[in-house]
Amino acid sequence: MRNIDQIYINGKFVKPNGTEILDLINPATKEIIGRVTLGDEKDTRDAIAAAKEAFKTFSKTTKKERLQMLQRLHDVIVEKSEILNQAAVEEYGAPVAATAARTQYAAKNFLHNMEILQEYQFEKFIGKAKVVLEPLGVIGLITPWNANYTHISTKLAPAIAAGCTVVIKASELSAIQTQLITECFHEAGIPAGVINFVNGRGDVVGAELTRHPDVAMISFTGSSQVGRIIGRDAANTMKRLVLELGGKSPNVILDDADFNKAIPLSVMTAFSNSGQACHVGSRLIVPEHRLQEVKNLVKKTIEGIKVGSPLESGTYIGPMVSQKQYETVQRYIKLGTEEGAELLVGGEGHPEGLEHGYFVKPTVFVNVTMDMTIAKEEIFGPVLSILTFKTEEEAIEIANDTIYGLSAYVSSSDLEKANRVASQIVSGRVLINGLHDEPKAPFGGFKQSGIGREFGAYGLEEYVETKTILGFDVTQ
Ligand code: NAD
Repeated sequence: MRNIDQIYINGKFVKPNGTEILDLINPATKEIIGRVTLGDEKDTRDAIAAAKEAFKTFSKTTKKERLQMLQRLHDVIVEKSEILNQAAVEEYGAPVAATAARTQYAAKNFLHNMEILQEYQFEKFIGKAKVVLEPLGVIGLITPWNANYTHISTKLAPAIAAGCTVVIKASELSAIQTQLITECFHEAGIPAGVINFVNGRGDVVGAELTRHPDVAMISFTGSSQVGRIIGRDAANTMKRLVLELGGKSPNVILDDADFNKAIPLSVMTAFSNSGQACHVGSRLIVPEHRLQEVKNLVKKTIEGIKVGSPLESGTYIGPMVSQKQYETVQRYIKLGTEEGAELLVGGEGHPEGLEHGYFVKPTVFVNVTMDMTIAKEEIFGPVLSILTFKTEEEAIEIANDTIYGLSAYVSSSDLEKANRVASQIVSGRVLINGLHDEPKAPFGGFKQSGIGREFGAYGLEEYVETKTILGFDVTQ
């Protein structure tokens, strides 16, 4: 049982002014595993003041100094990765194998930003002008519960690289993980006030960060719904925004794809992170005349997927993060049936023998059409909708018939055709024939999946402001 009753301001763990206490629950067992005392608006203002003061000197640090800090931030995460992993399994319910990979990714974010920083030119010349890219200021980092360490490091690493100071408000559902990563950052010996953490509710701490005039930018990852609130409230102070929001990603399997490979991979991808991931291909779009074959392959794949304790090796789908998320998924499964989709696998309720946690049945609907709620809205659980097309044009039309545009997937044995389709899908990222990653390539959404980009030089660029100086070389 952990009692988290401190926040981190100006290099010190301090008691918050806020007094509200929230229980932290293990989603696999529904047991209370900790309590967190939530910070309030005053705590947030204190953290912003510390970050503002620290910015005066941190913004003047050299590349070399910041490179050393990024290295130390990487090293502490690697050193503490076992403890970090355990907390993610216990507090979030993420299967143990997936957790380890995500913690490593969190550490690597700092190394990737070191590479970007080495090369990055903070001064450029355009004709007679000198263009200087200056650190933006104090940044408010607001993150969700579905990969706590990764989201925090994805935002913190470019902030440090650019010379910005931060106030971090991670999800209130991840307080144990947040406490542990804060302890790591404290050990890394970063100057006081550069990194500050305030636990708290979104509509309290997050809202104060969003409206405070001393915060230059909000970098947010979370739902499109909250992204809209942040966008609206940030406008008063003309804050810069990076919004990494929701998705309803299409996965187009063209007629000539290798179905024996593509369909199982599609199911596994849709259910990765127990379906609680922004980029999952939750709309599988397949040729109409091959639907029966797809159904057989989907059923067979799901028979081989283990749902259960996140502690057991081999588990692929763990519990939903909370009672609320469990109920959300149940509501969508019910709606799918009510709106006329055909239930192929799964359905409402707990899988047999897993009633003690927030476990749901991996569920697949076929004969889904784009007017159905399950085809339009992000569910954030292991629920896959299968839609069919007759022509390539129709497949593209269905893929783009969404308010989102975060990720997309295309499979075909003809690379030229796959590239042709990929170029017509309105999405920030398109993966052809399988899962690929390039950690220094930009990630972010078209349409209502967001604003701005993360990772690599594009990500770093969000944390600088551009100043043009003319006459800098003119002597009187
Ligand atoms: P959420 O939007 O409910 O919460 C995200 C964060 O915002 C939390 O820290 C929360 O406390 C805070 N928040 C809530 N209300 C706020 C307000 N009024 N002002 C400021 N902050 C506020 O999201 P969640 O349920 O934690 O996470 C799931 C969502 O995140 C999904 O929609 C998913 O698609 C999205 N997500 C997107 C990406 C991406 O990179 N695009 C990655 C992961 C998750």
